[in-house]
Amino acid sequence: MRWGIFCDVHANYEALEAVLSALKKEDIDRYLFLGDIVGYGAEPARCIAEIKELNPVTIVGNHDRASCDLFEMNYFNPHAKAAILWTRENLSNADKDFLKSLKLTHKEDDFILVHGSLQSPETFEYILDISSAAETFKLLKTRICFIGHSHLPAIFIKEGEDCRYNVENNVSTKDAQSYIVNAGSVGQPRDGSPKASYAVYDSGAGQLQIKRVAYDIQSAQDKIIKAGLPRILAERLTLGR
Ligand code: ZN
Repeated sequence: MRWGIFCDVHANYEALEAVLSALKKEDIDRYLFLGDIVGYGAEPARCIAEIKELNPVTIVGNHDRASCDLFEMNYFNPHAKAAILWTRENLSNADKDFLKSLKLTHKEDDFILVHGSLQSPETFEYILDISSAAETFKLLKTRICFIGHSHLPAIFIKEGEDCRYNVENNVSTKDAQSYIVNAGSVGQPRDGSPKASYAVYDSGAGQLQIKRVAYDIQSAQDKIIKAGLPRILAERLTLGR
């Protein structure tokens, strides 16, 4: 089975289109979406429509919840907050009901999905280092945990008591190991590369991969500025920060 995994679209339709067309060439059997369809970008409704049509297994992110009043806005910085208020004004009730319906986690035989961390899915903590990864590994009952939220693509590996960060974005899985895989962000990467990020998991071959694809950044930026959203949300896309 080949799984196509993506998250943190953040209302960036150009980036979403680029990732979905890259995944269409990957012979994917089933798609997994790890939260944050909306927030920051200028096309929340269009991105929701696209994801509904694709119909991946979908879990919720903090921006999705804040945009339908299910998560406290004071956790966000001023630019993110401005974008959430704008998003609330630009979503239909049907779109908000869709966001409200999304669950915090989803489990299959081999893996579990959560936006932030397993230690507290509803408060959206970040897994940014080995110590926060270790907390989720303690609670992990499947072999793999797919996450998003930090917008930093990463693979953490646990074997016995040893937990480490994997430098390569490509791993041949082993039975003795378990994994936390951050698929990176489709619509607002923050690892210094402006390219949209996504992951592919081939459960038969035991292969995990994080991949990148270029998209029309200029067009996404123009829409953010035209919408009256904070300029910095457009500017950061070029920097991948
Ligand atoms: Zn996000």
